[in-house]
Amino acid sequence: MADGFESESRKLLGRLRDAMAEDAAGQARLDKIVQLIATSMGTEVCSIYLFRDADTLELCATEGLMAEAVHQTRMKLGEGLVGRVARTRRVINTADAPSQRGFRYMPETGEERYSSFCGVPIQRLGDALGVLVVQSKDKRQFTPDEVYALEVVAMVLAEMTELGAFTGDSAALKVPHQAAVLFRGVVGQEGAAEGRVYLHDPRVVVTNPISDDPEAELTRLNAAVDQLRVSVDEMLAIGSSQDGDHIAVLEAYRLFANSRSWMRRMEEDIQNGLSAEAAVEKEQGLARTRMARAADPYLRDRLHDLDDLSNRLLRILTGQGTETGAEMPDNPVLVARNIGPGELLEYGRQLKGIILEEGSVGSHAAIVARAWAIPMVIRATGITTQALNGDTVLVDGEQGVVHLRPEDAVKSAFRDKIAMQARAQERYASIRDLPAQAKCGTVISLHMNAGLMADLPSLPSSGAEGVGLFRTELQFLIRNQMPKRAELSALYARVMDAAGDKRVAFRTLDIGSDKVLSYMTPQDEPNPAMGWRAIRVGLDKPGVLRMQLQALIRAARGRPLCVMFPFIAQLEEFRAARKEFDKAMERERILGHVLPETVEVGAMLETPSLAFAPEIFFDEVDFLSIGGNDLKQFFFAADRENEKVRRRYDTLNVSFLNLIEQIVDRCDATNTPVSFCGEDAGRPVEALVFAALGLRSLSMRPASIGPVKHMLRRSDLTEIRGVLEDARAAGAQSVRPAMLEWMKDQDWSF
Ligand code: PEP
Ligand code: MG
Repeated sequence: MADGFESESRKLLGRLRDAMAEDAAGQARLDKIVQLIATSMGTEVCSIYLFRDADTLELCATEGLMAEAVHQTRMKLGEGLVGRVARTRRVINTADAPSQRGFRYMPETGEERYSSFCGVPIQRLGDALGVLVVQSKDKRQFTPDEVYALEVVAMVLAEMTELGAFTGDSAALKVPHQAAVLFRGVVGQEGAAEGRVYLHDPRVVVTNPISDDPEAELTRLNAAVDQLRVSVDEMLAIGSSQDGDHIAVLEAYRLFANSRSWMRRMEEDIQNGLSAEAAVEKEQGLARTRMARAADPYLRDRLHDLDDLSNRLLRILTGQGTETGAEMPDNPVLVARNIGPGELLEYGRQLKGIILEEGSVGSHAAIVARAWAIPMVIRATGITTQALNGDTVLVDGEQGVVHLRPEDAVKSAFRDKIAMQARAQERYASIRDLPAQAKCGTVISLHMNAGLMADLPSLPSSGAEGVGLFRTELQFLIRNQMPKRAELSALYARVMDAAGDKRVAFRTLDIGSDKVLSYMTPQDEPNPAMGWRAIRVGLDKPGVLRMQLQALIRAARGRPLCVMFPFIAQLEEFRAARKEFDKAMERERILGHVLPETVEVGAMLETPSLAFAPEIFFDEVDFLSIGGNDLKQFFFAADRENEKVRRRYDTLNVSFLNLIEQIVDRCDATNTPVSFCGEDAGRPVEALVFAALGLRSLSMRPASIGPVKHMLRRSDLTEIRGVLEDARAAGAQSVRPAMLEWMKDQDWSF
């Protein structure tokens, strides 16, 4: 690149910065900018088009075209050359625009006199905001250096647009980040919520895209890259005890971090007037565009690595960690790409809603959201790039829809919906103290699932008879270090105090799969859901299990104690776990502690193998609890966290119901109390069918108890049994259609 041009480009950016620094209103700034660019580039025309909505562009400022066309001329995505630049996100550079495919003459702009056209997308990190165009009468092809300069300016414009530099005085200046957007995702948890966006991993905000001191910027870049290299080397050193993929990824990171061409491009960008941050972002943006186009998954992964590395570099440069210091707004709605249960627990119940770009209904993060009855939408593609901290957002957990920056009409309809739900809750409260007795007389006992002290207040308010599943791992997940025995014992005692004379079934630690403790060495397993988890860890490394059992026994102090072991797959595992419990009891007795008044030791039935266990297993357990979430995923060989396969198999699939019925029959034959505590127990139709199959105890999230009880009290289980038998006889794959038909025939008004 010629030196002369370098300084031109820098000069242009410098003038741009001065224009931005002036205390002008949004439109005046835009007008000034187009004028500056036209003068610097020696073109008659310079125009800025910004998105009005997702597929309409609007001429927002021009130098050279008719002033009356500003805010009047609009075009659809893909329409004309400007629309094509916006759609393809590629530069169009031509000396003879009218002869180009797609050229559209717009009389209101008077543009037919212009032959040369160069349009570049205004985008930030792959997020399109508009198009910057220069045009001139003489037939000239813009040089690569000129196109480069335009691209740099367009990127800076995008930064400034995001920073709100052009808004304020004109409602017509709506860029995508101010426009209403609707996302269709998948329901993670029902309910409706209105609140403000809080980004889990906010984008780094670059406030200084332009610099006139390249030497200083180069020094900053080099220092940051050095720091980045050291951190990648450290990650590699830590990761070297692990194998395979993990190392391969880190090696790729190191390769990028040491890449000369990556550095060279960023250095060039800085020479041309960008700050170090803007240079990193420019290269990151290019990588994102390539990523979107790359068909080869390997290449896409590598570009993804580069993207991640660029983010790290930006964080170093701007000093913005994951905590950017953004304040949690009132009524926060968490927006994240994905989130683990531990991180979600850290936010606590203050969240009004959760929106994930990825995520799955079967994940433990979703279970936490359900336990807290926080409306959740998952698979809302694009939300993390569109949403900004503080944006108004409506979470429609019934439809799996998210309204970002909604119009007033949508907001008021939504508020009606929230009010209606509140009325339904009031109706459930009216049956809170009545039994879940079906019309045929059968009584089902309804319990709640819990995991935190904060869940216990729901025990009386939900009408639950007890806690059918207390997930003890949640306590471990919210900490940064292994809890001590005394702490655990005090906590379990408080749980029992809060439950009073109601039974609490404590499940021992179920870690592994998606429940990862930050203070334990991570396992690099190809398939963690079927890996070293739950009781397998407890038996192989019994220290924590023993500590937990002692804590539970001490907490009970003369009260009844109920404990169950997760993920038992065969008789001997239960026996080994039970032996640990008996040993712990003996130890406590010798130490002189008061033992529990009574003990019940049960197992979770979460693998199909247990349904076929020898009869003696059923004799030896004090009770069984069917963990339907895991049981279903292993029965159908369909990952509960993989949305693509999870929904293929209905819980009301006749084969699965046959399995449940067989378990119930074997429990009845051996007088083994059995309950169902997977998420499906809280879905009214599923709960009805389970009850009709003979289950007499269900455990669910507290908010489901009302709806399930309401439904049970209006149903006759013998009738449902008949519906089931008929569907079976007819060879139906699922009982759901027949159940829905049956429900339609009921005279239910609510
Ligand atoms: C289950 O698997 O159904 C269960 C209740 O356990 P978790 O969801 O915690 O794995
Ligand atoms: Mg489970």
